[in-house]
Amino acid sequence: MRLLLVEDNRALAGLIVDGLTEAGFVVDAVPGVEPAKDAVSVADYDLLLLDLGLPDGDGIDLVRFVRRRGCGCPILILTARGGLDDRVNGLDSGADDYLVKPFEMRELAARCRTLLRRPGASLGTTLTVGNLAFDSIARETTVDDRPLRLSPKEMNLLECLMRRVGHVVAKPSLEGALYAQSAEVTGNALEAVVSRLRRRLAESGAKVTVHTAHGIGYILTPAQPIPTQGPRS
Ligand code: CA
Repeated sequence: MRLLLVEDNRALAGLIVDGLTEAGFVVDAVPGVEPAKDAVSVADYDLLLLDLGLPDGDGIDLVRFVRRRGCGCPILILTARGGLDDRVNGLDSGADDYLVKPFEMRELAARCRTLLRRPGASLGTTLTVGNLAFDSIARETTVDDRPLRLSPKEMNLLECLMRRVGHVVAKPSLEGALYAQSAEVTGNALEAVVSRLRRRLAESGAKVTVHTAHGIGYILTPAQPIPTQGPRS
């Protein structure tokens, strides 16, 4: 899941990016209203986290901008302004929830999960392919109901492939889901994550296969059943 954080306090932005990345989200961070407008114009985000007091404008204007463009993604306002008027203004302008600074990182991650679970959020909850299941909100993967532990990158990759099961998912779109815009992605970084994911799926007994579409991307399919051998004569 891809989040956009709009926060001009660099130290706080760094903490939030680290905390949410650890919780399994991919986070892009920008320091103001204008770069945020650029970011939402080129990428689809599942959730926006907005500071209100920004150097080049007010976060509320950004909420209106995003809503005018028809984007229904959840918006969580993060601000030191805890007054009733500010809360009401924020919610009236189209934000979904409000978290007053300072807050605990665990609470922020929990609020994000709650907003993403709402009807109308862009994500369903449980995806299944064969004996493999992925809960996109709890970020849990199971094989035959046994937990399968994956790194955040492996999990995001699996989620993208499960969402488009049977279809090729192009490399740039996978890289977009796995790496924040600021990350430097080396040529074979994605291949390395794919090969780790394949190994974990095989070890866990998941009946799925990740195929390579050479030069294009990857496809997840249910594994072909192994033909049963007839009795030998
Ligand atoms: Ca600020």
